[in-house]
Amino acid sequence: MSSSFFQCTHQYSRGEARCGRITTAHGVIETPVFMPVGTRASVKTLTQDMLEELNATIILGNTYHLYLRPGHELIGRMGGLHQFMSWKRPILTDSGGFQVFSLSKLNKLNEEGVRFQSHIDGSYHLISPEISMEIQKSLGSDIVMAFDECPALPASKEELDKSMRLTLRWAKRCREYQLQPHQHLFGSVQGGLHRDLRTECMESLVEMGFSGMALGGLSVGEKNEEMVEFLDGFVPTMPNQLPRYLMGVGTPLDILNGVKSGLDMFDCVLPTRNARNGQFLTRHGPLNIKNAAFSEDQGPPDSGCQCPTCTRYSRSYIRHLFTVGEYLAAQLITIHNIYFYLNMMAQVRDSIFSDQFDEFYQNFYKDYTSNRWR
Ligand SMILES: [Zn+2]
Repeated sequence: MSSSFFQCTHQYSRGEARCGRITTAHGVIETPVFMPVGTRASVKTLTQDMLEELNATIILGNTYHLYLRPGHELIGRMGGLHQFMSWKRPILTDSGGFQVFSLSKLNKLNEEGVRFQSHIDGSYHLISPEISMEIQKSLGSDIVMAFDECPALPASKEELDKSMRLTLRWAKRCREYQLQPHQHLFGSVQGGLHRDLRTECMESLVEMGFSGMALGGLSVGEKNEEMVEFLDGFVPTMPNQLPRYLMGVGTPLDILNGVKSGLDMFDCVLPTRNARNGQFLTRHGPLNIKNAAFSEDQGPPDSGCQCPTCTRYSRSYIRHLFTVGEYLAAQLITIHNIYFYLNMMAQVRDSIFSDQFDEFYQNFYKDYTSNRWR
């Protein structure tokens, strides 16, 4: 665990929010950061050029998907994920755990790992902590996630306790695995909404010595207020010197609340997935381009937005593209949505640095919930 990997660059004076800097072999990441999701070595519909122009400093790749197709060994032979997809900036890979438990047709859990059937062709596979590490080592990502169990929900406290202990035993096996020298391993804190389980899990992970701490198993069906309340109480107890990552979350407001509680890293498929369903995410809430009211609207999708889509194309045109099923519609909306998320994070960082985060938070919250487009 090198102290030069993560540095807190500014602690907000009126709360838990903070700015930081993560230094990897493939570049520097200013936090709080949003990581676009490149599930199968592609952030859907975008080229790597576009991601660079949109100032994405790190993207996420999915171990489960890349293991099944084209296979981590093939990617390893092609020089690793960075070279394979021609992306020179940092990459984080997840552990495969979440997808094994949520996507595979059948999964059987034991101490060794998880046996599962591929959701693609029904073939049988095993992912264990060692295999997850081996896959992520071949991929060569800068940040590697420890393999964790993601219990089916709702789960009793007893079940979550058992699952958390297995996650800890697996974390130890991941920690013992020899990754590439440039790779940093993050631990995954589990335990549902139970503060005592989460604390015990986190303290054990800290003792094992990880480069960062991730929170898994949130935004998976609990009430939004419950997640916010949990994060506000728990995140400030996490070690200051480690980056804190909230996995798979979320909406713009979820991210803002996460930053407020002291989190540094976020990822979510929402901006890319919703784009393919015709939804622009804007400062004034989601805007659905399918709405007939936009059919002859010559204005930009999101007035005031400086993204390549909004500065050139009209609502009328994009609505037409979407209605007839042109690929370009999904691309244009994705460009805007990723720009919107990354620009929001840049504004969040500025507001923390200038000690105006509360004001930014309140204004953003008010605008986003104004329902202007409905
Ligand atoms: Zn835009």
